[in-house]
Amino acid sequence: QREEANYFGAGPAFLPTDVLRQAAYDLFNFENANLGIGEISHRSKTAMKVIDDTKANFKELLNIPDTHEVFFMQGGGTGAFSSVAYNLMANYAKRTGKKGKAAYAVTGGWSKKAAEEAQRLGFDVDIVANGKANNFTSIPPYSEWKAIDADNTAYLYVCDNETVHGNEFNSIPGPEYLPEGVELVADTSSNILSKKVDVSKYGLIVAGAQKNVGLAGLTIYIIKKSLLEQASDDELRALNIPLSPIALSFPVVVANNSAYNTIPIFTCHILRLVTQKLIEDGGIEKKQEQNEYKAKILYEALEKYPSLYKLPVEKNSRSHMNVVFTLPSEDLESAFLAGAAERDLTGLKGHRSVGGMRASIYNAVAIESVEKLVAFVIEFAEKNQ
Ligand code: PMP
Repeated sequence: QREEANYFGAGPAFLPTDVLRQAAYDLFNFENANLGIGEISHRSKTAMKVIDDTKANFKELLNIPDTHEVFFMQGGGTGAFSSVAYNLMANYAKRTGKKGKAAYAVTGGWSKKAAEEAQRLGFDVDIVANGKANNFTSIPPYSEWKAIDADNTAYLYVCDNETVHGNEFNSIPGPEYLPEGVELVADTSSNILSKKVDVSKYGLIVAGAQKNVGLAGLTIYIIKKSLLEQASDDELRALNIPLSPIALSFPVVVANNSAYNTIPIFTCHILRLVTQKLIEDGGIEKKQEQNEYKAKILYEALEKYPSLYKLPVEKNSRSHMNVVFTLPSEDLESAFLAGAAERDLTGLKGHRSVGGMRASIYNAVAIESVEKLVAFVIEFAEKNQ
């Protein structure tokens, strides 16, 4: 048993208590097999069913068309920085017979790291947008982005929700910016399953599991199937394109139903339980409504006291998941955190690179928890403004 916490940590994040209770039981005895879910072969029928059910849940929740496939890999969001570059470049070589380059929109710390990793691995990277000049407090409008080199670019990479800086895209680049044949890749580690998305518009959607959907240890990939075609190793070598480590090779992992090597099946099982619960609770539309409500009441409460709470991110770039705000002094920030903790409101300290506060209001954070936080935001302001 545990009390329902009001926990706003940025990740690993809060998970539904009933999911964890079930998972805890399944860890020592899964479906009365007298064995725990983590003790069975990753190639057994039981494990395959866990993987298949989880995939099916994602397909249902996000309305994933037949043109796209879901798979899971280890390596986290950071592993995806590497896997995306290797695999999409190998696909581009297959499509065009040449070495391509990649376009990256740098809108915060995570997309910056992704761009740096692609470069580090030996790929040509074009930074087409960069929010660094204004500390990533807004996502530059597409009209200000550098044009993509349509004849040589394999993909455009964006981070849909920047967890540290608290900004989020409110639209995706359409044909007026994105040339045909350049695949859209989105890191959705901190907002997957929080809102509806039109999967058909993406070449690839990637997300670490440990914020909105489960435990660390698995990364969710939703890929356009045509992107699984890749130039052979010999062709890649001839073009001077680095080869992907086998564990990160999309076609290999997909051909083996996400179990080419040992999949952390307990982590996958948690994904299954979380997605199952989401379906039972009314699906993405319902969740999106709740998430929008949570973000709205929190931002509105903070906006009411502009002399005390500063919201660095411009209104139309604000994240629905990670609400970043600062107070005028470190003393006030400490007092805010201490007062919050007294009311069992925890996990609110901002990322060390940005400072201030960050309330992460992922899917599992209840409306009641956000309402409690809102009440405290108001109470603190009335006393200290
Ligand atoms: N992308 C985003 C948007 C993130 O928030 C994070 C941090 N969890 C990462 C990538 C890196 O993820 P990981 O720690 O799983 O490598």
